[in-house]
Amino acid sequence: MSVSENQGFNTRAVHAGQAFEPRTGAVVPPVHFSSTYAQDGIGGLRDGYEYGRGTNPTRDSLQEQLAALEGGSHAYSFSSGLAAEDSMIRALTRPGDHIVLGNDAYGGTYRLISRVLGEWGIGNTPVDMSNLDAVAEAVAAGGPDGGKTRLVWVETPSNPMMKITDIEALARLAHDAGALLVVDNTFASPYLQTPLALGADIVVHSTTKYIGGHSDVVGGAIVVNDAELAEKIGFVQFAVGAVSGPMDAFLTTRGLKTLGVRMDRHSDNAQAVAEWLLQRPEVEAVLYPGLPSHPGHELAKKQMKKFGGMISVQFKGGEAAARTVAENTSVFTLAESLGGIESLMNYPSEMTHASVKGTELAVPVNLIRLSCGIEDVEDLIADLEHAFTFIGTGS
Ligand SMILES: *Cc1c(COP(=O)(O)O)cnc(C)c1O
Repeated sequence: MSVSENQGFNTRAVHAGQAFEPRTGAVVPPVHFSSTYAQDGIGGLRDGYEYGRGTNPTRDSLQEQLAALEGGSHAYSFSSGLAAEDSMIRALTRPGDHIVLGNDAYGGTYRLISRVLGEWGIGNTPVDMSNLDAVAEAVAAGGPDGGKTRLVWVETPSNPMMKITDIEALARLAHDAGALLVVDNTFASPYLQTPLALGADIVVHSTTKYIGGHSDVVGGAIVVNDAELAEKIGFVQFAVGAVSGPMDAFLTTRGLKTLGVRMDRHSDNAQAVAEWLLQRPEVEAVLYPGLPSHPGHELAKKQMKKFGGMISVQFKGGEAAARTVAENTSVFTLAESLGGIESLMNYPSEMTHASVKGTELAVPVNLIRLSCGIEDVEDLIADLEHAFTFIGTGS
């Protein structure tokens, strides 16, 4: 069936881009591995398919599904989140241009923008995105050589400090300055938050995380709701070729079909774990937007459906306590990444955010980040409670 934008999220997730195969009626569209397509005479393409870097039916079906869920007109799927970011930035900026991004942006995003694209003359200023006055100042100031700010880049909730930024207000601010607003929607996923509807111009995803959802595929996506932006990004996707392969696109589509049911459980589990953590004497701070004590709670309630599966925790016992907990759980696996059905734990200052160590984006050493999976929440809490018994024992 084809879907309409009036249909609910889960209906669109299951059906968008998933029309059955006409010859056999196969309900799940076959995965198209072919790198090339037979032509009926020179230039006689069937349905526009010519060569796998440019178009592939399995990738198309994922792109249609992504666009339908983010409320965009076009989506582009890439081989990783960073490949998506790289292609999109190169489509929309030129040497001398300037990017304003969050000072707690994902470490790999900051590394790409500062150390790779910086070498090609793209400037950047990291700022606290929840402070809109500071953002306005950085946007107006532009780059060191008078470069104009082209992109304002935000993660909300941010990683790993879980700050919440007002997307609608930030979009107005960016547009007033002639810049585009990019929202990295990896943490929330389109089930919890749709930035394009709030005025953002571009949505970025690491589909490796909640969208794929099973920690078995690396991928990225860009979604837009503007034909001109779409054309520029689509051209770089084709010309550079950092596309997702057919099997990766298939796995991502399969994960995306269950995004809504997974996000409900991730969010409910995280809410319960965050409330439990808040009561613990070992804990200095719980960073979770679902807690009324979180400074972004009201804003998160306004722009998100629920509060997601990610929690950051800071310990009174400093680095030693954080490391002890990180190394003594068994249901939570100590690993990079997030957003899978299995619970993961991460020590950002040495793991996901090691690339920003010693910079102004460095993460506190007493902080661990939890990605709450879809297991039974009693088992998640029991696992943490057991790990907490090792704090201060020197083991
Ligand atoms: C993982 C991640 C990325 C990078 O995506 P990859 O798929 O690892 O290239 C970007 N942004 C956020 C918020 C992430 O968590």
